[in-house]
Amino acid sequence: RAAELAVFRDRPARTRDGTEVTLMLNVGLAFEIDQLTRTGAEGIGLYRTEIAALAAARVPGVAAQAAEYRRVLQRADGKRVVFRTLDLGADKLLPGEADDQVENPAMGWRSLRVGLDRPAILRKQLRALLMGAAGLDLSVMFPMVATVAEFRAARDLLEAEAARLDEMPNRIEIGTMLEVPSLLFQLPGLLAEADFVSLGTNDLMQFLFAADRGTPKLAGRYDVLSAPVLELIEGLAAACAEEEVGFSICGESAGRPLDALVFAAIGVDTLSMSGASILPVKALFAEADLAALRPVLRELRRAGAAGSSLREPLTAWAREH
Ligand code: PEP
Ligand code: MG
Repeated sequence: RAAELAVFRDRPARTRDGTEVTLMLNVGLAFEIDQLTRTGAEGIGLYRTEIAALAAARVPGVAAQAAEYRRVLQRADGKRVVFRTLDLGADKLLPGEADDQVENPAMGWRSLRVGLDRPAILRKQLRALLMGAAGLDLSVMFPMVATVAEFRAARDLLEAEAARLDEMPNRIEIGTMLEVPSLLFQLPGLLAEADFVSLGTNDLMQFLFAADRGTPKLAGRYDVLSAPVLELIEGLAAACAEEEVGFSICGESAGRPLDALVFAAIGVDTLSMSGASILPVKALFAEADLAALRPVLRELRRAGAAGSSLREPLTAWAREH
């Protein structure tokens, strides 16, 4: 099976009827960049910078962070890397932080909220990113953004840090995760200011359906492959295309081959996933015909408008074809 999949490494992710999708990697440590060559992924769509902090049990200093980010960019060898700023809190706690536990940590003081309220840590990270990317291209993405005002505040910190440095990246792109539902209702403002957005299905699903992402009993109750969620994603992809803002999906769902195929069918052109998913997604794409899937999907979405999962009939369709 591994040998059968290996042939896809050097091929693009292309469906039988010719739709190509850009596949990127989700990683969290510099050594994982090797997966780029092993999978043929086109870049890093989500670099989770908090993983290094969790591994070290503290946020590394500016020089250590800058060195890490530079190493990552050098290993990526010109391929795009999207660095997400620290997304700590909730299920990703540093030692000593557990005392602050509140009843709803996922909706608590976490992630960018901490970054904006205690800007010293975020500013140091942004400085390290700018230093690490000197002379190269830099993409920075903010997590858990709930309002355009928060996005702006974070971007202003990046610009303030950039103004203090002599050596700059060649090009800076600034984007945001789309994982808090309130941001979905501020799209015109957001798309006027962000260079790219990346939909995080893990958090977005938990907040949309008020269903904790770590509770197995809830896992089968709500599905990305359902009429309301597909409607949302299709609309987002179209709105971003219209405004020429890059759109991708980087939650776990993007790495499930069937989900990835359905996303391609509704107009999503970039997906970011774990290294183990890249070749299986390419393999399914190579056998799939989106022109045949679209009418089936349309019918299933109409019939499943009440919100039930479309996974079973879609799986059956995929097996048959
Ligand atoms: C997400 O929420 O979908 C996401 C990609 O981020 P994380 O899983 O790191 O919260
Ligand atoms: Mg998230």
